[in-house]
Amino acid sequence: MIIDGKEISGQIKKEVRDRAEELKSRGVEPALAVVLVGSDPASAVYVRNKKKACEACSIRSESYELPEETTQEELLALIAELNEREDIDGILVQLPLPKHIDEQTVTEAIRPEKDVDGFHPVNVGKLSMGLPGFVSCTPAGVIQMLKRSGVEITGKECVVVGRSNIVGKPMAMLLLLENGTVTVCHSRTKNLSEVTRRADILVAAVGKPKFFHADDIKEGAVVIDVGIHRMEDGHLCGDVDYADVAPKASLITPVPGGVGPMTIAMLMHNCVESAARRCHE
Ligand code: NDP
Repeated sequence: MIIDGKEISGQIKKEVRDRAEELKSRGVEPALAVVLVGSDPASAVYVRNKKKACEACSIRSESYELPEETTQEELLALIAELNEREDIDGILVQLPLPKHIDEQTVTEAIRPEKDVDGFHPVNVGKLSMGLPGFVSCTPAGVIQMLKRSGVEITGKECVVVGRSNIVGKPMAMLLLLENGTVTVCHSRTKNLSEVTRRADILVAAVGKPKFFHADDIKEGAVVIDVGIHRMEDGHLCGDVDYADVAPKASLITPVPGGVGPMTIAMLMHNCVESAARRCHE
């Protein structure tokens, strides 16, 4: 059985839109500032998709497309201005940034209350303490997929492969908050396949195409594939060899149409949540 990320993200976007309309009727128009530095083609596509999603969700987007040679000071000045603006609820700086700009400094310059990507150390700290704050969109989307597909997390063996700050670590934290028994694997993990075969819920976020095969999976496991790779023939694939693993899994996310669409849906969700705070909710 497939966990359909397109359908679930569609539901979430509809909920976000209803909430945005309701906020508008109370005089608050949710707004996201999207900042792009340079002309990386992949980043330009991501930014375009985020702006389109804003439109679909009744969120106003403001776009700042800055030249490659923008200095760190100039970018920080823009962020400072957006931080101060009452009518901006979320600030998103598309990564990666050009090499002369320090991403950590920029991430930390965004006010945590407007950090709808959930990358600011304050939001990361809140997540690890189980306090409310913005959560990185991809792992937050995975939790929604599991919940909305009726997957029970409490007490389950959850294995996350990957420990990046934007996917693996927050994913592990969220599964822990949902009472899973969580193991995090990475490139130094020994006998990886032995560990993944214990998983009732496996989250693959290794960034390697078709890395996991049927032998790495327990019969009946729920398999969440976060990876996205473009193959030579132009098709997309994930970190999981879908054709091999799907018959053995009880539920699996496809690529494309799995985790991918969830990330933007959760970004939109974070924006309206931020706007709701303007109503002191
Ligand atoms: P990173 O490259 O930052 O992290 C990859 C992780 O996998 C690292 O922790 C690394 O370990 C681990 N790893 C690498 N090789 C192995 C191995 N052989 N065995 C075990 N662990 C290994 O990637 P991200 O977390 O940013 O992204 C992961 C995947 O998800 C990518 O394919 C990316 O494109 C995709 N992605 C998809 C999104 C979506 O919207 N669907 C959003 C974000 C990412 P170590 O720490 O030891 O180096």
